Amino acid sequence: NKQVILKGYVDILPNESDMEIKVSKIKLKAPKGSGAFLVKNLYLSCDPYMRGRMRKIQAANYLFLPFVPGQALEGFGVSKVIDSDNPDFKPGDLLSGFTGWEEYSLIHKTEQLRKIQAEDVPLSYHVGLLGMPGFTAYAGFFEICSPKKGEYVFVSAASGAVGQLVGQLAKLHGCYVVGSAGTNQKVDLLKNKLGFDEAFNYKEEPDLDAALKRYFSQGIDIYFDNVGGDMLDAALPNMRIHGRIAVCGAASQLGLSMPQGIHNLFNLISKSVKMEGFVQHNYLHLYPRFLEHVIGYYKQGKIVYIEDMHEGLESAPAAFVGLFSGKNVGKQVIRVASE
Ligand code: NDP
Repeated sequence: NKQVILKGYVDILPNESDMEIKVSKIKLKAPKGSGAFLVKNLYLSCDPYMRGRMRKIQAANYLFLPFVPGQALEGFGVSKVIDSDNPDFKPGDLLSGFTGWEEYSLIHKTEQLRKIQAEDVPLSYHVGLLGMPGFTAYAGFFEICSPKKGEYVFVSAASGAVGQLVGQLAKLHGCYVVGSAGTNQKVDLLKNKLGFDEAFNYKEEPDLDAALKRYFSQGIDIYFDNVGGDMLDAALPNMRIHGRIAVCGAASQLGLSMPQGIHNLFNLISKSVKMEGFVQHNYLHLYPRFLEHVIGYYKQGKIVYIEDMHEGLESAPAAFVGLFSGKNVGKQVIRVASE
């Protein structure tokens, strides 16, 4: 069984050398009387939150315990049951949910697992468009941003796993949508594949405030913030009266030992702007509605989803580390095995 092992706790950002590939022999059988089942992992998801689990000391209220050095990482994945001692999970069942970063995992806990069908949606979408990132986009946009038709929406890290769906949902809702991203290739995808009205490369903008004024001469109603830092500071003075800021992530702050200060918070008062952080996990009651809506949009060709697919477990450490410098173009996924 090939595994991606965490070698030791990480201080700030992970490096490839913090992980190693190990191979060990296992029995491809679920032990009798264990109630467990053995899965073959098909796709694994690289998500920014996993960095938090590589640290010994977690942020307060963090949902997950730290990873254990010497053991395989874990995360969201798509898996197939190959042997089972649990009557509810039969060989051949396809599952989406928590699994190990390894070829085969013995699963004991079933609360976070969902049975899936290999319908006409690619299986890997169950860790992206139809998985946690897609759900984050849906819950954050509709529950936190309270969008109205015709509003002006700005999305940062817009081509990523979450951002690309936020922008498309906003367009379907009748909003004007601008995205920022870190390369010209991503900007091109936003404008020409993902249907954003406009997009810009924030790394080529010497003055973010001026860039936002260029795209939002009338101001921003909704800012879906995936990055924090300078971009958040630049968005604040550009918000319209009664604007909403959904604080989804702070990608720009993860590599810093001290988070940057935000200087323009006064605009929340002067413009009666609501700024609200959220964790997707607190909205899981909306998951069935999310699946119904998004699968419907996808089947009608109203939504597309860009994945950055890396092949084989060996590619997982580099793919994961690449999230923190923007190497991923779309949702970062590892194909571990074919069905
Ligand atoms: P992405 O697919 O967007 O990948 C991360 C992206 O962050 C990179 O591609 C890069 O895009 C951008 N980035 C990396 N470093 C920096 C930097 N220094 N400054 C600005 N941008 C940077 O990840 P996800 O879509 O999975 O997640 C997006 C955000 O949402 C993350 O902050 C994540 O933590 C958060 N999140 C929050 C959830 C919640 O419940 N609140 C749930 C899921 C995710 P670029 O090249 O465009 O800079």
